Amino acid sequence: MSGIRPTGFLHLGNYFGAVKNYVRMQDEYECYFMVADLHSLTTHPDTKELKSNIHRVLAENIASGLDPDKVALYCQSHVHDTAELYLYLNMLAYVGELERTTTFKEKARQQPDNVNAGLLTYPVLQTADIIIHRASLVPVGKDQEQHLEMCRNFANRFNHRFGEIFPEPAAFNFGEDLVKVPSLDGSGKMSKSENQNATIYLSDPEDLIRKKVKKAITDVGPTEPNTPKPDSIANLFLLMKLVGSQERLQVFEEAWNNCTILYGDFKAQLAEDMVEFIRPIREKAAAIQEDNNYLKEVMEKGAEKANASASKTMALVREALRLNYY
Ligand code: AMP
Repeated sequence: MSGIRPTGFLHLGNYFGAVKNYVRMQDEYECYFMVADLHSLTTHPDTKELKSNIHRVLAENIASGLDPDKVALYCQSHVHDTAELYLYLNMLAYVGELERTTTFKEKARQQPDNVNAGLLTYPVLQTADIIIHRASLVPVGKDQEQHLEMCRNFANRFNHRFGEIFPEPAAFNFGEDLVKVPSLDGSGKMSKSENQNATIYLSDPEDLIRKKVKKAITDVGPTEPNTPKPDSIANLFLLMKLVGSQERLQVFEEAWNNCTILYGDFKAQLAEDMVEFIRPIREKAAAIQEDNNYLKEVMEKGAEKANASASKTMALVREALRLNYY
């Protein structure tokens, strides 16, 4: 189980941190993937753009290879049971631990005029989203590590107090380290809302990709053989490793190690690798986004599967809480 907020355009961080693993998991596991529209309300109270953002996130997931016939692909707000589970879990979450969450502190700093209770209890709603399907594997990027730890705590607390209902959920990347896709400016990660010129979006046209990569921060280049790479350069190598051919990457690795690397050539190749990688996704997503009837069908089918799974869990939850009085 996993989710993506409809707060902006999907980027290479979303793709390599999350969507790529959704696609890899769909043949092996029973999967629930949602567009986290309720979560987006904690930071984006204006809902004018919500519908088109939801359509785009769905389209970009499908264009990336997710098959709505194999997985439950749905909107968070279409599963009303989640709100009930969220309420129960809120009784098990302590204000102190929520206030110490890194993302809460960051968001509170970013929006001091709207430090709402939904922002504080974001990890509780996220836990409800995950455990309502009694999910154990959660494909996410590295930035979600702390939330997943909280999720495990809340699920364990519920089990401890009311009986073993939930498996222990854990962040999942096929046994490998979780991914953090860096931004092009040498600092931080690619993100939907911050540093847009240093983030490559799945909808970026070719010229814009080339322009952004050209502006990526480099330095004067190595003067000693086999020098460790500074972060800004290591990030560009990581990006080429993700999107490009491993043979060409090797050529640039050797050029780095023997101090003959030409950053102009390196960045031009990285830009072309990104252009080639993104083109089919962008074109397919644009076509899907036009097809309202298809997207409606996808959402309905997804909601049906997700609601069936959620209502089974909620029957167990109410029983465990002894809320059945007849
Ligand atoms: P969000 O965009 O915050 O809703 O995140 C959706 C998914 O994308 C989550 O699983 C994140 O961990 C993942 N993600 C977002 N940005 C990055 C990034 N720069 N690198 C790796 N994963 C990311």
